Amino acid sequence: MDTHAFNRPAAPAAFLTRVAFIEHIDHELIPFQDGAYTVGYLHLSGLRHLNRVEGIERGDEALQHVMLTIAGVSPEATIARYAGNGFAFVIPTSDASSIARRVNDQLPDFAKAAGLMAKVGTVDCVRPLGPEECIERARFACETLHDAKGAYHRHFDEELKLVFDKRAYVVDHLDDAIARGEIRAWAQPIMRVLTGHVCEVEILARWESEQYGFLRPDEFVPELERHALIHKLDLEVIRLACEQWCEAHAARANVPFGINLSRLDFELCDIYSHVRSIMSAYGVPIDQVHIEVTESSTTRGDDVVARGVRRFRDAGFTIYMDDFGTGYSSLGTMASLRFDVVKIDKTLVDNIESDERARSVLADTVSMIKRLGMQTLCEGVENEQQLRILRAIGCEKAQGYYFRKPIPHQEVMETLTEWSRNHERQLEDAYYDAIGRINLLDGTSIDTHGIEAATFLGHSPIAILEFNGNGIELLSCNIAYDRLLMRMGFANLDDFVAYTSRGAGRVNARAVQAALKAKETGREQRFTFIVGNTYCTASLRLIAQTTGREAYLNLVTSIENAPQVTEHTLLLGLLEGSGRNFFWKDSERRFLGANQSFLDYYGFSGLGDILGKTDEDMGWHQDEEPFRNDELRVLDGEEIIEVRGTCLCRGELRDIIASKRPLYSGGEIVGLFGYFDDIGPHREG
Ligand code: C2E
Ligand code: CA
Ligand code: CA
Repeated sequence: MDTHAFNRPAAPAAFLTRVAFIEHIDHELIPFQDGAYTVGYLHLSGLRHLNRVEGIERGDEALQHVMLTIAGVSPEATIARYAGNGFAFVIPTSDASSIARRVNDQLPDFAKAAGLMAKVGTVDCVRPLGPEECIERARFACETLHDAKGAYHRHFDEELKLVFDKRAYVVDHLDDAIARGEIRAWAQPIMRVLTGHVCEVEILARWESEQYGFLRPDEFVPELERHALIHKLDLEVIRLACEQWCEAHAARANVPFGINLSRLDFELCDIYSHVRSIMSAYGVPIDQVHIEVTESSTTRGDDVVARGVRRFRDAGFTIYMDDFGTGYSSLGTMASLRFDVVKIDKTLVDNIESDERARSVLADTVSMIKRLGMQTLCEGVENEQQLRILRAIGCEKAQGYYFRKPIPHQEVMETLTEWSRNHERQLEDAYYDAIGRINLLDGTSIDTHGIEAATFLGHSPIAILEFNGNGIELLSCNIAYDRLLMRMGFANLDDFVAYTSRGAGRVNARAVQAALKAKETGREQRFTFIVGNTYCTASLRLIAQTTGREAYLNLVTSIENAPQVTEHTLLLGLLEGSGRNFFWKDSERRFLGANQSFLDYYGFSGLGDILGKTDEDMGWHQDEEPFRNDELRVLDGEEIIEVRGTCLCRGELRDIIASKRPLYSGGEIVGLFGYFDDIGPHREG
């Protein structure tokens, strides 16, 4: 065999096969297994992309280049092609440290432009490592670079060795760990966003190993998956979860729990039958268990997984889609496979408190999921502000460090026992599930169709109000509702809650009335109210009830500015709208003004006909004396109420009923005003 095959860059380069490569190391380099040679694993990241955009020939050209560069570094280099875009090579250690840099530097320009990059892991070839062990370690070192941006070389050193050994340990010791009880089923509470109460838990695996101490799932789950052992772990975790549920059940503190299933569980065993038999051994009912499968496991077009999940579903298990938002074709999966709850990944929750765009992405995601008839659960909630936003966008459930980190069984028991003391859980669950079905973005719900609403700032203001013994409480509302409250003069939601819970306002009285009617009739009820300067029409519809509490969907369907009413406009309205004849005079009984109906009554063309004149000037009365005396008495402070009299109107004598009062200004009588109604032609007696 020509071990220097790539010593001649001019010759067409070729790779060794894997077998030939291993033999080469084994036979020819064994005498040098003292560190004089280095085994490398090179992964060309971006090769697929290059093939796609530039064509396969260009891809091959880039490959050739890489090979020639390695061959050019040392006449002793030997290369084998591994996976589609992976190579193993061996070179003298003295050349190893620069190889990654040189390969990348010498990539052709078109390859660099397309983002091609060589990532290289290396390991010293030392006893007692065999060739395959060397390649495995080099490849491992290379894999650690996958997510490292810009980094292209990693040597297998002591630090990596620890990680590497741990992975090997996990695979070799799983059976022992199960037998010795090192696997634990921890739990993280899942809360209802509206109440902050625990409604269920998610079971998360932990491994308390003899050699490495405490291991987290990312240190063993991927490795067990790689070695097709994950189902063993999962079945043990499920067994533990059932055992713990029994203990909680005996203490009347059980809550439903969720288990994580790997895509491989469906391929490696009859997971459904195993789970059922464990559950029946412990007497755990189906409605107490939900299954979590990741989005990506179901989007690979895997019939096995889809069929398996359907089997659980058909048997009555609740199915959660895990990690939504981290994979691809999520919408496709949701349309074809029915999930009950979608767990929205932490990456979509991060920063919603500070980033408007992140917030609207999450809001739309929640809305879309709800429209498809599924519940939403946000993962990785870490602070109060995030929780508030979840409430505003109508996400039903949440999980995260803000409430509780995953905790060992004993701590879960304490939490649940305490919680079970003061809640009627079953009833509460149904109540909040019904509320959770409402889509706060557009007010629709899976079973509440046909709600129409005017829009305000793009969305209708929508809230869910609870009427209970303490008055009216705002359970949740969307951002449009929130803004409406600001516009009405409330500083924030708490301000509004305080206002409504005082229970005194007229708004409350109207709302309570409408709520009663809505409950009685089962139909939506409208009511109107004014707060500050805003005039609103709103509707209430009963959506859920439990003992002593009723939840209503509250939609604000129209919002207007109330007209500005000043005393002046009020007075004009009264004067002109009443149909009576009004007039007013100064202290000398001279006309200062009159309303239109007064002028019309007498047939005057305008105020000019009367201003500054007295009754005597007008020549209205045959006998002026009684009229003058009446008015003088009024100017002395008396009131004359509804006194019958006569007057001459357009040549006709008519009966009238008149009233007159003094006009005060600063405590002094400055004039009088009066009004009268015509009651018909004059009759004697
Ligand atoms: P997962 O199913 O998405 O579980 C949620 C993970 O997020 C948990 O990590 C949990 O501790 C973490 N987490 C929860 N709230 C927060 C938060 O507010 N902030 C942050 N930064 N993290 C939070 P954990 O327990 O390390 O589990 C990691 C993954 O391992 C799980 O992700 C799941 O995919 C897998 N896993 C866990 N247990 C099992 C199991 O029994 N079987 C299988 N097949 N996979 C499991
Ligand atoms: Ca999960
Ligand atoms: Ca998750």
